Amino acid sequence: MTDETLCQLAMKAMETAYVPYSGYKVGAALLCENGKVYLGCNIENAAFTPTVCGERTAFFKAISEGEKNFVSIAVAGGKDGVVEDVFPPCGVCRQVIAEFCNPDTFTILMVKPNGYEKHTLRELLPFGFDKNRLK
Ligand SMILES: [Zn+2]
Repeated sequence: MTDETLCQLAMKAMETAYVPYSGYKVGAALLCENGKVYLGCNIENAAFTPTVCGERTAFFKAISEGEKNFVSIAVAGGKDGVVEDVFPPCGVCRQVIAEFCNPDTFTILMVKPNGYEKHTLRELLPFGFDKNRLK
């Protein structure tokens, strides 16, 4: 699985986004160490707080299927599904990623027109809080 293919899958995942309020579609493609890919989209709600991001949808699908080891996630987003710039994961999603991934090896691919930006989790969530602080 190349980074480019994972980014294409994130673009495809935007198609099922449920966004009647904002119109901002987000798609995510989460690559597991075993090669499986889980797609996620954002799902809005009239009460707003139940809304969930595409990244968390992908993670929760994977975790609920027993996955525990992850390599990378690609994220694409934009108004009406048009990618005009990178669409970085929100703070809540970064925290969820931190629960399951090595911050120095897990990578986040943010799709932009004609390419993507690649960062480690630590770059996007420096000095993050994780389970190691609870020992
Ligand atoms: Zn989020």
